[in-house]
Amino acid sequence: MNLAVRIRNLEKHYVLKSETVRALRGVSFDVPAGDYVAIMGPSGSGKSTLLNLLGCLDKPTSGSYFLGDDDVAQMNDDQLSEIRASRLGFVFQSYNLIQQLTVVENIEVPLYYMDRINAKSRQRSIALAKMVGLGERLDHRPTQLSGGQQQRVAIARSLVNDPYFILADEATGNLDSVTTAEILALFQKLNDEGRTIIMVTHEDEVAEHAKRVIRLRDGLIQSDVINTHRKVFPPEVLAKAANPSEPIPALTAG
Ligand code: ADP
Ligand code: MG
Repeated sequence: MNLAVRIRNLEKHYVLKSETVRALRGVSFDVPAGDYVAIMGPSGSGKSTLLNLLGCLDKPTSGSYFLGDDDVAQMNDDQLSEIRASRLGFVFQSYNLIQQLTVVENIEVPLYYMDRINAKSRQRSIALAKMVGLGERLDHRPTQLSGGQQQRVAIARSLVNDPYFILADEATGNLDSVTTAEILALFQKLNDEGRTIIMVTHEDEVAEHAKRVIRLRDGLIQSDVINTHRKVFPPEVLAKAANPSEPIPALTAG
């Protein structure tokens, strides 16, 4: 089986002056390529800590984390940034767009870190903007867009480096229910096409769209189950969520 993620006995301790917080106390799971996982759990259960580790934004105190064949738990900060830039896509609750940049420029941002901006990458960013339904908004700036449109830009940005998987942290947390459904339809579409998605959410209505739900409690896995009552969007909704009319140009070196 082609694994996107393999973690074993992952622990993360935060050492404070007065105490040590054991935010993750031995977490193990595999994520096969093409999976769609929702991570849930009460506040303080370790969701963000886990997502930060999966996203190579932080290092575990102990345990192993394999991303494909690479043992990222052993990597230094430079190697982790390289992995983030080349292999991961991030979607945050607050969109994290750069206000001075246009839609297309925002989508391109991850490529700056890899020195991969060229004519081809611009074509790719434009095609991704069109795919997420922003073909008429290429030169708009974030303040000229709705929340849902801004999150679409963020999703297009998360795809520009052709990532191993997409990590989303409460990606629909700031959106109304109609817009949330649009974003979830877009995620489903991406997953149907083979993209691996791992998202943190505290909303059952969001998690029920995932293929699998991992629940954390006090830094441990409480349950890890296949979503037998998974909600899926019908084809006509998916067709509106993303527009595949144009092929997305591949990334090229240099
Ligand atoms: P969740 O996202 O599920 O709410 P977190 O992963 O943010 O949980 O936090 C898990 C535990 O670790 C909590 O007790 C929290 O207070 C603690 N924690 C998180 N980040 C830090 C940090 N940077 N320093 C110290 N403690 C932290
Ligand atoms: Mg959190």
